[in-house]
Amino acid sequence: MSEQLFWNAEMETKSMDEIHDIQWQKLQKQIKYIYQNSPDFYRPQFVSAGVRPEDIESFEDFRKLPIMRNKEMDRAAQLESMDRYGHSYGTYLCAPLNDVIHIYSTSGTSGEPSFYTFTEQDMKINDECWARTFWRAGIRPGDTVLHGFGLSMWSAGVPIVRALASMGARPIAAGAEGGIERMLMFAHLTKPTALVGTPSLAEYIIEKCPKILGYPASGLGIKTLVVAGAPGAGLPEVRHRITEGFGGAKLFDSSQGAWGLGNVSCDSNEYQGMHVISPEHCIWTDLVDPNSKEPIVLEDGAIGEGVITAFDHQAGPPFRYAFGDTLQLFTAPCSCGTPGWRFKILGRVDDLLNVKGIKVYPAAVRNVINSFAPRTTGEMRIVLDSPPPAVNPPLRIKVEYGVGLIDTEIEALCKELVVKLKNRLRFTAEIEMVKPESLERSTLKGKLIEKTFDETIQKED
Ligand SMILES: [Zn+2]
Repeated sequence: MSEQLFWNAEMETKSMDEIHDIQWQKLQKQIKYIYQNSPDFYRPQFVSAGVRPEDIESFEDFRKLPIMRNKEMDRAAQLESMDRYGHSYGTYLCAPLNDVIHIYSTSGTSGEPSFYTFTEQDMKINDECWARTFWRAGIRPGDTVLHGFGLSMWSAGVPIVRALASMGARPIAAGAEGGIERMLMFAHLTKPTALVGTPSLAEYIIEKCPKILGYPASGLGIKTLVVAGAPGAGLPEVRHRITEGFGGAKLFDSSQGAWGLGNVSCDSNEYQGMHVISPEHCIWTDLVDPNSKEPIVLEDGAIGEGVITAFDHQAGPPFRYAFGDTLQLFTAPCSCGTPGWRFKILGRVDDLLNVKGIKVYPAAVRNVINSFAPRTTGEMRIVLDSPPPAVNPPLRIKVEYGVGLIDTEIEALCKELVVKLKNRLRFTAEIEMVKPESLERSTLKGKLIEKTFDETIQKED
């Protein structure tokens, strides 16, 4: 059994033509399902668009439908369902509440969590998607896996614990909330061979392991890392630091597993993006222009905002859900030989900065800063004095210099960074060099932006 290349070879090796046929069959059913079962949310949107389910006769017709969900609409629908039905699961809840057996939460920067619903069938699909992901990363039944995501962290928390157990692996649910010392103690005592968590956690472990356990992270025996929740594994320098720090471990990039989304990078030497590994359950490489929300032609290299539609989801199905990530699609075959489409996450649509006409992704800035390691620690913050996306140059950045540098070296490094950022990303930076470990670390998502303006007058994301 351990010789299999895939968890579910039958589904994971289908051609895109076969996948499109399955998607279209399921999509027709799902459109009827949400129309019938969401009288306060989806149905009125079909009505106001002047479209009945039977009018949608092709994928092209489907792609012409307006965006029907996003974060703001979710929040409004949650308030409305609280008023009407006494629960905060949104008016897009299409299944009877009694059938909902699992809730995911998002913290949201506003501090008030949002909750999302899942039936047993929904959870089984999630288990399947994660099993495909973990299998491709080399995790097998019987492996001990350190679970370092926040346990309440969306689909990456408790649902991954469930998914690992259901595929026969042994999750150690340390959870990021417990802090780094507890996490490392769990690792020391249980000897996991794999770690799942955010890329910032992986980097944090590399930094803290020698101080807390007295030996480097490479001594933990972790051979595989599956990271998600933030860019990192796709950035060459971060990738290099993590794999080196864990003594040559393999690093796989994944993205959210809710709603039947399964995505994971492959073992190619150079990062090829994430393979879409459960396209029969959910599409999220449907792209629209982030401003006009018009469909973008789905061809190799296309860039746009990702739009999710789940084909099998019962509880609160996403349908034409613009979720705010900018994706780049790859339809050309991957060097690893596995069929199907791939994508890269370029950043959040909301995070994209516009420095006097130059588009800047904070993650790309971080990659440049990382490329100077060990002269930099890799930690940085873009400092915004006014609400994004427009920034008047220079773009202010705090960068931690590496341990042991003297003043003249720090000064020279600062100048080099400004030149490199200008050459590589075409914007002018004003860099403040700060001491190693002076910027706050996190076991959860790494922070790239520091806002000095008053956010209370801003719209929350
Ligand atoms: Zn590949």
